Amino acid sequence: MKRRHVIAAIFLLAGLLLGCLPVFYALHQARQQAIGDKYRELDDVAQGLDRRVRNALVMLTRMHTEMSARGEAACSPAGIRHLQRVAARTQISIAALYMEDHRVVCSSSDPLMQQLVLGHASPKRADGIRVYSDARLPGVHDRSYAVLEKEGYALLVYPEGVIAPFVRADLSLGLFTPRNGLYSVRNGSVLDHWASSASTARASSRFLDADAGYLVVRHIMQGGDDGVIVATPIATIDARMARFGRWFIPAGIVIGLSVLASVLLLSRHQLSPRNQLLRALGKGHFFLLYQPLIDLHDGRCIGAEALLRWQYEEATVLLPDRFIPIAEESGLIQQITRQVLQLVEKDMSSFLRRMPTFRLAVNLAASDLQSEQTPGLLGEMLQNIGPGCGQFVVEATERALLEETSALSVLNAIRALGIELAIDDFGTGYSSLAYLATYPFDILKVDKSFTSTACTQAVTSQVAEHILDLAHTLGMQTLAEGIETTEQADFFRSRGVLYGQGYLFGRPMSAEALFQFVAADTRAYQPALHGQLPRGPVPSDTPPH
Ligand code: C2E
Ligand code: CA
Ligand code: CA
Repeated sequence: MKRRHVIAAIFLLAGLLLGCLPVFYALHQARQQAIGDKYRELDDVAQGLDRRVRNALVMLTRMHTEMSARGEAACSPAGIRHLQRVAARTQISIAALYMEDHRVVCSSSDPLMQQLVLGHASPKRADGIRVYSDARLPGVHDRSYAVLEKEGYALLVYPEGVIAPFVRADLSLGLFTPRNGLYSVRNGSVLDHWASSASTARASSRFLDADAGYLVVRHIMQGGDDGVIVATPIATIDARMARFGRWFIPAGIVIGLSVLASVLLLSRHQLSPRNQLLRALGKGHFFLLYQPLIDLHDGRCIGAEALLRWQYEEATVLLPDRFIPIAEESGLIQQITRQVLQLVEKDMSSFLRRMPTFRLAVNLAASDLQSEQTPGLLGEMLQNIGPGCGQFVVEATERALLEETSALSVLNAIRALGIELAIDDFGTGYSSLAYLATYPFDILKVDKSFTSTACTQAVTSQVAEHILDLAHTLGMQTLAEGIETTEQADFFRSRGVLYGQGYLFGRPMSAEALFQFVAADTRAYQPALHGQLPRGPVPSDTPPH
């Protein structure tokens, strides 16, 4: 996958994550928060139940100590009045009793209590209390009562009444004995195992019974003899979440998508061709290759054309046709030209100082020919290279001239610097002849489309000959581009063309390869006079190392 696609994929993924994560995270957090709130609510109910039961236990203990302190007989009139006061002050009791031998002797209310059938008694608890959990009153068949007894004094309690103030449709309530895990009363759906005397029997706990779908608070009262269960279905929370999600999820997705869109816009902006060009300029990803220019009459290398390349990715080099038009459209071409001149200076300075007649051709774009800054840039480059700086040539295409009428003053200023002017791709544009008369060109470069048909009977072959006649009449030097065969080279040489350029002589090559090419002076092309084919390896269009 190309790096650009990888970056786009990463941005997309990041956008998706950025978009969706907050929604799911917020929902998760909201659910946790709701569960936390619900546990606190259940705790409050458990505390309320705890207070109610504790009140009875405290009253029971107090009843015994107070009566002992008074020294009054339990069932004397004063003792009964005391039993009545205790009954009135105890939230959950129906009556206060005095008992002997598991029988009620007297009570705070009517004599009916003496007939109370106490049933089975629990062993004494750590707090000295004995519990009769299934006491019954004669004639009251549908209710069972509990009797809490300590040292003969007792309270008659209706367990359902203990929890009654807390009963709610969404709550499950239970009172249990942690020691044996048995409930004394329950309301709603209360499961046996919540009260079970497991290892955690003596500790209060909160837990989610996922199988049953309940949040449970298991509260053990002080002393560890009584326990309270308060539970609620988790569905109440999930219903709340569903209500919350109904607006939150769409809102979250809208926000997420906006984030995603912004990320995509940003990534598109980051990856826009213009930004890529700017980045390449900043990071020095452009480099030059040089293609030899050959004297067709003796095969000598008399110069080179600088051709721009973009090291786009590690293994990808882009040709100018891919990026020069974009640079022109996005207004970056002049920055690119500036960098080309800097690259020429870096690559060629010392070489050109030793080769004062070596022609070095650079390509200018339409907007370069319109900009008054261009001659200044070229002049600066010449100055930096120093005296004997070779023979520079500026190549301009017909298309560039067609668009820009102010090119004439710029071209004149360039020429005034001692730089030669070449008209490039000649014959491919419009009103070519007019240009030759208007602009001060020194060299005419015959486009390679003519070269490919030069030795054929095609009409364009004759056109090329007319172009050459015209150039010669105007006293211009001529150069044929795209020469790939000796026949083509011989053809142009026989038509008086001075110079040639093409794969036959050498492909665009690095500056070092060019220096070697010139030093070896291989004379790759031997004019037909000598009847030789090109010899020696032809350097290829490869980036410099
Ligand atoms: P051009 O100025 O006409 O350059 C000649 C093109 O023909 C080069 O393509 C070269 O590699 C190719 N060529 C040379 N010999 C042969 C051959 O024998 N056969 C064939 N088929 N092709 C040959 P390249 O390097 O891809 O450049 C394409 C165009 O990009 C150039 O056409 C020029 O107009 C533009 N260009 C190159 N460098 C620059 C630059 O620095 N600035 C500007 N503004 N334009 C540039
Ligand atoms: Ca050119
Ligand atoms: Ca050309």
